[in-house]
Amino acid sequence: MAKKSVGPCCNYCGRYNKDVGTLVESPKLNNTNRPVFICADCAKSCLDVISSETGLPDLEDLDSMTQEKYEIPDVPSPKEILDYMDQYIVGQQSAKKSLAVAVSNHYKRLKDEENRRNNSNIDEELADTVIEKSNILLVGPTGSGKTLFAKTLANLLQVPFAIGDATTLTQAGYVGEDVENLVLKLLRNADFNIDAAQKGIIYIDEIDKIGRSGGNVSITRDVSGEGVQQSLLKMLEGTICNVPQQGGRKHPNQEYIPVDTTNILFICGGTFVGIEEIIKKRLKSGKKDSMGFVPASKLKEEAKKETPILSSVIEEDLVHFGLIPELVGRLPIISSLASLDEATLIKVLTEPKNSLVKQYKKLFRYSNVNLEFSEEAIKAIAKNAIVKKTGARGLRASMERLLMNLMFSLDELNGKKVIITDKHVNDEDFTETAA
Ligand code: ADP
Repeated sequence: MAKKSVGPCCNYCGRYNKDVGTLVESPKLNNTNRPVFICADCAKSCLDVISSETGLPDLEDLDSMTQEKYEIPDVPSPKEILDYMDQYIVGQQSAKKSLAVAVSNHYKRLKDEENRRNNSNIDEELADTVIEKSNILLVGPTGSGKTLFAKTLANLLQVPFAIGDATTLTQAGYVGEDVENLVLKLLRNADFNIDAAQKGIIYIDEIDKIGRSGGNVSITRDVSGEGVQQSLLKMLEGTICNVPQQGGRKHPNQEYIPVDTTNILFICGGTFVGIEEIIKKRLKSGKKDSMGFVPASKLKEEAKKETPILSSVIEEDLVHFGLIPELVGRLPIISSLASLDEATLIKVLTEPKNSLVKQYKKLFRYSNVNLEFSEEAIKAIAKNAIVKKTGARGLRASMERLLMNLMFSLDELNGKKVIITDKHVNDEDFTETAA
């Protein structure tokens, strides 16, 4: 007797079409003509597994999460922002000041947008005046605190914050990350609340690494340079960014979340190695700076001065370096950070709330060991960072190497006090790696 056909079944749970309703058919694979099927329950379970692994909310949640309204937090004054930054960042006073003003203004601008939408203008005469966004460019050597600035601000302001790296970006269609992925990071950090993400801060590091690749004309497109700058430019100017939910490359069948970048504050950072030479050349030639015309003699004097030449950086130098003028134009606040000298590095090690010395003291305290550093030891660690030209960035690695063996046998030191001297610093691991 011929077998009675009962229709297709779900290849995951084995239940038949008549019991579970709709079954979704797979595409036919090359080596077999037989498709497989999945029922709605199993498809949902698959999505749950994927969501838990990728940190993505499931689709129902996503819908409600993306629609939530976000209250703009109260804006602290520039003075309050500066006081807060002082607790975590040593030195860099002029950069702190300009960032404090910029961030405070940015949030005033957001409030103003909200007010205009609600027709509750603070001043009738200025009702139609739109305050434009001022993104920020931080120029400074490695380990001078560019990322720290952005992180500290985001902590203070309690707004969504994401850090990206310009070197991983390529223009759409090429191998690498699309610019939209930066916005996806922000969206994830905002728990998929679009309104919150639209008011967040994105820090893009290594912006100097996407400079135009020289003046030579190539028949192939400039994948990592100008193309990426153009895509970034659109985002900085304000555009509706279609963010792929799963990240990675764009895919025709993917769901997109539209995010408006108009109100996102972009802070870009870069070391701009070699830009000093461009600045010096300009100063020597006696050209005007962004503040207006200055007598050539004065500028020549400035070029000879020992003060950090980077503090004289202007838009023109950045264009010379390889950034496209339009992108520079979208970064109206340029702040330079000085490389940290020995005295500042000593402060970085000891003074901020999160200073490395305090962090290691705390770690040791958990094993009931009292950790102390002699003044000379701290000096020696700072000197080492200067020799290696790593700024404050190398300090943690140095501390790790120095304290590694001690930390391994901390239990044997229970109840004791350990004093690190310059002899430990110089005689042990540091001398091996000093340049
Ligand atoms: P950059 O982004 O300029 O390369 P980072 O901000 O990543 O440097 O700095 C590396 C680490 O050095 C930070 O985590 C921070 O602990 C420390 N650091 C750098 N600059 C300062 C500073 N001015 N004050 C306090 N700590 C600093």
